[in-house]
Amino acid sequence: MNTLRFTTEQIVWQEVPGEVSLAFLFSGCPLRCPGCHSADTWKKGIGQALTVEYLKGRLKRYRGLISCVLFMGGEWLPQELEKMMAAVAEEGLKICLYTGLEGGELASLSNGLTSRITYLKTGRWRAALGGLDSATTNQRFTDLRTGENLNHLFLKNIPIVKAA
Ligand code: SF4
Repeated sequence: MNTLRFTTEQIVWQEVPGEVSLAFLFSGCPLRCPGCHSADTWKKGIGQALTVEYLKGRLKRYRGLISCVLFMGGEWLPQELEKMMAAVAEEGLKICLYTGLEGGELASLSNGLTSRITYLKTGRWRAALGGLDSATTNQRFTDLRTGENLNHLFLKNIPIVKAA
């Protein structure tokens, strides 16, 4: 059935640097990355349905408190997700999408989606390379407004080079 379903809804601060985000974790991800932190959400059809009506209600409740909406995990049914993004855009909020897709697979993101997305995280979870807080990660966090790679905002323990 063409319904987006989510298992978790929460306010997050770290997943999108500089933004306070309302995050929805979708169920049904088909990518099956070994070591995925959300493997309990892989099963299709679990979780609560995300409808435009429900989303609008949440955006109204958090008006003035959030700056961004983050969609992550799962298989995000592009046509349904476009409807959600349109509702978010009506509120004047930024939009972030986390996807495990990478390389040529990203061609499946329609213009309707990419034209609305502010921040896009791409790439599967590969434990040996680490996530966005690793200098060796395969994942990319991009500001689609400028094309800038913002991975550096996630790096921890950056060595401080003192002036001589
Ligand atoms: S893409 Fe993300 S949600 Fe899907 S299996 Fe990989 S790490 Fe898990």
